Amino acid sequence: MISRPMQRHNLRDMRQEEVVAFCQRLGHPAYRGRQLFAWLYRPGVRSFAQMTDLPKKFRAQLAATASLDLPEVAEVQRSEDGTRKLLFRLADGVRIESVLIPEEERQTLCVSTQAGCAMGCVFCMTGRLGFRRNLRPAEIVGQVIAARNLLAAETAPPLTNLVFMGMGEPLANLANCLAAIDILTDQRGLDFSPRRLTVSTSGLAPKIHELGRRCQGKINLAISLHAPNDAIRDQLMPVNHTYPIAALLAACRAYPLPRRKRIMIEYILIKGINDADTHAQALGRLLRGLRVKINLLPYNPVEGVAFHPPSAERVARFQEILWQQGYTVLLRQSRGQDIDAACGQLAGRASA
Ligand code: SF4
Repeated sequence: MISRPMQRHNLRDMRQEEVVAFCQRLGHPAYRGRQLFAWLYRPGVRSFAQMTDLPKKFRAQLAATASLDLPEVAEVQRSEDGTRKLLFRLADGVRIESVLIPEEERQTLCVSTQAGCAMGCVFCMTGRLGFRRNLRPAEIVGQVIAARNLLAAETAPPLTNLVFMGMGEPLANLANCLAAIDILTDQRGLDFSPRRLTVSTSGLAPKIHELGRRCQGKINLAISLHAPNDAIRDQLMPVNHTYPIAALLAACRAYPLPRRKRIMIEYILIKGINDADTHAQALGRLLRGLRVKINLLPYNPVEGVAFHPPSAERVARFQEILWQQGYTVLLRQSRGQDIDAACGQLAGRASA
């Protein structure tokens, strides 16, 4: 008879309560599980041997049954503007990336939630490459740990903001994203404030309702809208055929936003497609009554896609029309273009 190697449980895929339950199944009290969970997220912990206040016998038992696997950083690319792209090689050889964007008062990490993406937005390179697989919680959280380690090694200011806006559609991998969010925001985990965490979606309306229920609005929501009407959105984002703008905005209205919080509306301006004055006016009418901020992003050209960014004057005019309607409108510049890492499109790779 061929004996199969025992499958080890990756503790970094587990929420605190799951680590506690795992330890209890091994015959240990709950407090040991809590102690173990805290060890998982201390800087530099790579082995059970480092967890010196856990009994030796327990550590040996863990080494035999569990793992601490994190995605391996294959390469770090640096942009002239300070943006860094972290390229990861996962255990099965799949590659993903995240982008670290330093700004005056923030360090933002744009995190991937899937390898590839099935949503097929026509302006996005990730969408064109297709879907490989969902990322596990440890593969999502691992990107944050790697960025934290990189910043510590550079004695740079720590991470302040996380955006699930890299490769993939987070809400198509909601269960694993929710587990990752719980680990990231757990005080014994990475202790990240949920107010500093944003999940961005291309518009999976039922999942927006679910995210709102599960996180009770504590997590910021961003919507990749990119069009002022269904006719244009249908052309740009296939998801709109299933969940048209009315369904998407109904989900936004139902999202349990805390007072003073607003939903971020992402809008990539594409020359001749969605950048006319009439489009800005229609966008303003569409969003009326919703608590939103609008983020305009001039299109970042992608190889093989016949779209172009509008002129600076056109962008300014679009922004002005929305201002006149009373909206807060931010203009985001692409960062890290020389390393193919502009967040918002990840240089055309991802902006879910
Ligand atoms: S823009 Fe986002 S949702 Fe659309 S294909 Fe790219 S990664 Fe997927």
